[in-house]
Amino acid sequence: MTARILINGDLVETGLKQAVINPSTGGPITEVCVAQAREIEMALASARQAFDKGPWPGLSLKERKTCLLKIAQGILEKAGELADLETLNTGKPIKESTFMDIPSSAETFKHFAGHLEEYLEEETLNIQSQVSTAKSRLVREPRGVVVLIVPWNYPLLIASWKMAQALAAGNTVILKPSSLTPLTALELGKIILDAGIPAGVVNILNGSGEVLGEKLCTDSRVDMVSFTGSNEVGKKIISYCAASAKKLVMELGGKSAGIVLEDADLESAVNGSLCSIFLNQGQMCTAMSRIFVQEGIFDKFVADFTDKAKRLKLGEGSDFQTQMGPLISEAQRKRVLSYVEKAKKDGAKLLCGGKVPDEAGLKKGFFFEPAVFTEIKPQAVIFREEIFGPVAIINKFFGFEEAVELANSTEFGLAACIWTKDPVKAKDLAGRLNAGTVWVNTYGMFFNELPYGGFKQSGFGKELGREGFLEYTRLKNVLEDASGEARPIVNYWYGF
Ligand code: NAD
Repeated sequence: MTARILINGDLVETGLKQAVINPSTGGPITEVCVAQAREIEMALASARQAFDKGPWPGLSLKERKTCLLKIAQGILEKAGELADLETLNTGKPIKESTFMDIPSSAETFKHFAGHLEEYLEEETLNIQSQVSTAKSRLVREPRGVVVLIVPWNYPLLIASWKMAQALAAGNTVILKPSSLTPLTALELGKIILDAGIPAGVVNILNGSGEVLGEKLCTDSRVDMVSFTGSNEVGKKIISYCAASAKKLVMELGGKSAGIVLEDADLESAVNGSLCSIFLNQGQMCTAMSRIFVQEGIFDKFVADFTDKAKRLKLGEGSDFQTQMGPLISEAQRKRVLSYVEKAKKDGAKLLCGGKVPDEAGLKKGFFFEPAVFTEIKPQAVIFREEIFGPVAIINKFFGFEEAVELANSTEFGLAACIWTKDPVKAKDLAGRLNAGTVWVNTYGMFFNELPYGGFKQSGFGKELGREGFLEYTRLKNVLEDASGEARPIVNYWYGF
């Protein structure tokens, strides 16, 4: 069955179709409709109309909450099917789709349904100055039409983060999933239709980022763009949006640092660090792609880490025993391979992996053996650039100051991990790291209650939490004179 796109409350068939590939086999899964100029125009017009004249912004907060809870329920009812589809399309191990991606997506809709009234509560302030007094109401309004552009590494989860927040705040949306992984987003579209969300409030377009991205982001009917993806594309989007000064949220790349102090619990630091770079085949924006280990435990850490990396079980994502699936595409595998070659040229020492596996069963898909490097010079390409694949680099450090300097010596600032038993050192280090999220003795914990977002070239704006939600609102100040008898001076400025 051809997967159709969602526009103005209808699943729409288009003239142009595209194949979607299963990265575990390299073969096609299905074909998907591709939006072209006509469908893009229809989606823009319908999202604008639904916001300006449709029922959505006028629904009571209670009704809005009910709609979002129905979406959460719809995701849970189809959880098994969605997990299978996510794994089929991304190659990620089914354990990850089943226990992380799908339930977390439902949880996000539930969270923002449960908190939208609190987050949107008006604030009243009484202000007094030397010349007048005033009463102000600070009102949170939706921004309008919001374009949501998401990557392929967590297709349903990141789409759900953005959509739940945007809808809870009262916006209408156009979602553009990656054309490599549009399937679960389009299933979400069906769940949204079943939940009875009014036509035009949610539109989901599949197609080339270049074509759709530019058209959607430059259009004056769009008020905001929330983007998660690479720095290269992020910068293009910033330039598309500049002419109309749109509100932007940018969640971009990373080159995050894991710091292991010598008093850390070694086993948990090794296991946590493996997860921090190899989960989802290393295709995580928050991957700890640079691991710095203190001198006293360096050799033991590297030996244990490498031994376990060699034992990771590669295989089809659909197998519950699989610990590492394929990379997303042949192009991505070539990109990761080219970084491994550059690292070798730059003098780094490869301890294991870093190549296409020899097993016959892994020949068809885009599999890649997890690589572990040491002795990487800070000026080497793999030390500086985001690889977005299963390539761990482990370097030694001696003192605390050196660890801070190494961790911060990157143009990114997304996340960091600290492994230590000393809470004082952890607090000190966390305070000095240039990263939007710092995990201590853990990795990758995301909560709907907590804001997430990077510093420096990892982007700006937050996702999740009250702060993330408020990005999808605009703040209006309604000010009235409260001086009573002593009337405001402006009314009599000219003496009339
Ligand atoms: P990408 O930037 O290539 O694509 C992201 C999305 O942008 C896709 O939907 C794509 O179709 C679209 N796109 C492509 N060209 C476009 C254009 N010119 N205009 C508008 N949209 C366009 O990223 P990717 O390869 O899908 O994902 C990997 C990147 O995403 C990595 O850099 C990773 O760090 C980043 N990422 C960041 C976060 C975060 O929260 N900071 C989370 C996940 C992924």
